[in-house]
Amino acid sequence: MSEPLLTCDAALRKAAADIDSDSPRLDAELLLARVTGWSRTAFRAWPERALSPVQRTEFEALVAQRAAGQPIAHILGEQGFWSLSLQVNEATLIPRPDTECLVEAALALPLTAQARVMDLGTGTGAIALALASERRHWRVQATDAIPEAVAVARANNQRLGLSVSVSQSHWFENLPPQRFDLIISNPPYIATEDHHLGCGDVRFEPATALVSGRDGLDDLRIIVNSAPEWLVRGGWLVVEHGFDQAERVRALFVTAGFDAIESRQDYGQQDRLTLGRNPGHHSTIPGNEGVNDDAQR
Ligand code: GLN
Repeated sequence: MSEPLLTCDAALRKAAADIDSDSPRLDAELLLARVTGWSRTAFRAWPERALSPVQRTEFEALVAQRAAGQPIAHILGEQGFWSLSLQVNEATLIPRPDTECLVEAALALPLTAQARVMDLGTGTGAIALALASERRHWRVQATDAIPEAVAVARANNQRLGLSVSVSQSHWFENLPPQRFDLIISNPPYIATEDHHLGCGDVRFEPATALVSGRDGLDDLRIIVNSAPEWLVRGGWLVVEHGFDQAERVRALFVTAGFDAIESRQDYGQQDRLTLGRNPGHHSTIPGNEGVNDDAQR
C-alpha cells in the first residue's frame, strides 16, 4: 500500500516542527519550493495541493538535512544578496543581509563614475558584484585567498553578466602595485575562542572566512594598516566588523592615518561597519598620474 497523499500545508507543518532554526516555516517553504517548483505564495493560495510521492520523498530528504543543521544556502546552493542570487558552496561565507549595509555605505560615498574599487576577501563575490550591478562604469576588482572561492566568485560574475575581475591573493599580497578609490572588505573577524562558532550556520562555513586570531582583529589590522598604500589621496576604506569591535577598529583607522572616520549600524542596530578616508599624498605610481585629483573631494 502506498502512503496517503500529503498536502502542502501538512508537509510544511511537519517540516517546520522538525527544523530547529530561527525561521523554521520559511526554511520549510524554501525547501518545498525547490522540490515542487511552486512559489511560496502558492503554498498559501493552495494549501490543499497534494505532493506526489516523489516530491514528498525529495522534500523529506531536504528537511532532514536542514534538521541536521545544514545551512539553507548550502542545501539550495544559492543565497540572495542585494538584488542578486549568488551561488554558494562550502568554500565561501554565506552572504549575510547585514553586509548589504556596506554596499549601501559604499554607494553613498562621493566617488567618480569610473571609480576603481577593490573588494578584499570576496568569497561568493557578494560585495563586488552588488557594487558592479549598481555602478556599471566602476572598475571593480575582487580577491580571495582561497582558490575555490575565487572560482565561485568568477562563476557568479559570469552568471550575472557583470565585469568584476577576480584574482587570488591573500589581502594585498599578490596584487600588482596600483591605487584604488575604494577598498571594501568583509574579512573574518570572530575571535578564536568565541562560543558563537558552535551554533547555527557558522558550523558549516570555512574557518578561514570567519576566525581571525585571539581578538578577532588580526585580519582587520593587516587590511587597515596596509590600505593607505593602496588608496589614492581621498580614497575610502570600508570594512565590516563584529558588533563589539567598532571602537577598536576606529582606533586602527586613526593609527593608520585615516580621517572622516565613522562607524555605522546594521539592520539589527549593532555597530557593524567602519569607514574612513585616506588623506595621504599624491600617488607617484606610474600610470596613475592625474587620477588622484579626480578622486579628491
Ligand atoms: N557576521 C558573521 C557572523 O557573525 C561573521 C562574518 C565574518 O566573520 N566576516 O556570523
